[in-house]
Amino acid sequence: MEIDSLSSLERREILLTDIRNAIEVEWSNPMKMNNDDAVLRSALTMSDIDSAYARLRRFAPLMRLLFPETEDRNGMIDSDLVEVSKLKRALNNSRIGADIKGRLMMKMDSHLAVAGSVKARGGIYEVLKHTEKLAVEHGILIGYEDDYTKLADSEAKEFFATQKLQVGSTGNLGLAVGIVGAALGYQTIVHMSAEAKEWKKELLRSKGVTVMEYHGDYNEAVKMGRAESQQDEDSYFIDDENSHELFLGYAVAAKMLLPQLEHEHIVVDKEHPLFVYLPCGVGGAPGGITFGLKQIFGENVHCFFIEPTQAPCMLLGMVTGLFNNISVQDIGLSGNTVADGLAVGRSSGFIGEYIMPFLSGSFTIKDKRIFDYMKLLWQEEGIFLEPSACAAIHGPVCMGHSAVMDEYRYDNNLNRRMERATHIIWATGGSLVPEGEKEQLIHKK
Ligand SMILES: *Cc1c(COP(=O)(O)O)cnc(C)c1O
Repeated sequence: MEIDSLSSLERREILLTDIRNAIEVEWSNPMKMNNDDAVLRSALTMSDIDSAYARLRRFAPLMRLLFPETEDRNGMIDSDLVEVSKLKRALNNSRIGADIKGRLMMKMDSHLAVAGSVKARGGIYEVLKHTEKLAVEHGILIGYEDDYTKLADSEAKEFFATQKLQVGSTGNLGLAVGIVGAALGYQTIVHMSAEAKEWKKELLRSKGVTVMEYHGDYNEAVKMGRAESQQDEDSYFIDDENSHELFLGYAVAAKMLLPQLEHEHIVVDKEHPLFVYLPCGVGGAPGGITFGLKQIFGENVHCFFIEPTQAPCMLLGMVTGLFNNISVQDIGLSGNTVADGLAVGRSSGFIGEYIMPFLSGSFTIKDKRIFDYMKLLWQEEGIFLEPSACAAIHGPVCMGHSAVMDEYRYDNNLNRRMERATHIIWATGGSLVPEGEKEQLIHKK
């Protein structure tokens, strides 16, 4: 017992030293709980996910009207699940030395309608939830059975023009909230951190969104946006550091994945484990999706986060137990990374603690390797993903060949089931990246 606890302390020390030195690490979460217990102690439940899904259904006719690109999914926002067997073969055969067994799939949130990233799930959901509340309060909608396409009428737009939406963002959340906010007629203000790309700001301005630019990092931009929004009673702040609504919007993804798995004849049960790899910034998107998946698949799904070695805010918070009370800058890391969507120094105010009982583990990745994966994916599959999304490709690679994961597979009785496993790389963004930027990224030396 004593020796065990000593060795786990030692392990933690070594891990923290590696994290501080920006060395790539693999971490298996010792605080993960039995799934039934984790579900029981959770304040949010499956019924919250169901009601978020129902809300998206109510808005679907309106979304179809405002965004004709959503027509082929009847106004719902979702992405394809595709098999990437050429990528699997290349990873296994290259000097990366991966040993991926089972099927390798990719969830193409990079190609989500409206915003081209996973933020189209959470960000749009929260805007719609707020819109529904305002519309019902002001008699624009008479209850939930009303015709939501009324919200595109000029009277509705006149009303929303008196209302403000604000959000702090490294880029993609701003795109999602800004585009849908502007389409509904809101005065929309996006507070962008230093790493936000110029083309994202321009795209937003072209839609009439006000873009505020800051030299500071993401947490700073959120702080400024929150403070400004608080001064105005007609302003609503989408708070990426604290929002349960964003979280539930992301969680709906898990529910929508079920029929897609069935369609691919993918079984998820004790004999057929599912592994899901999610890039993590502040934690909302990967946290929400993990939460949803664990509600549905329980012990049979294994969720892992991937963070840049210079911005592992979620891992740092979990390993130290300090959650959002510690930042990567506190341990001397820069927070700077080519994965701009993951350039977050301090994790969400609630997600670390909330998701810890559900999470299987975390991996960190260097920028250099992100580019290697980006090129490989492009060569093998002709798929372009932005750097943040490419980080997730590190997941299945680590799963197959690291000492920490050897132990995880052994402890969870997985070794003899790996041939029947399915791995999902959650591809979180990329389709809106302009052609010129894309070329530069792919050919970067
Ligand atoms: C925002 C983002 C993430 C991570 O989401 P968080 O909620 O910040 O953890 C991952 N990939 C991309 C492309 C993103 O834009």
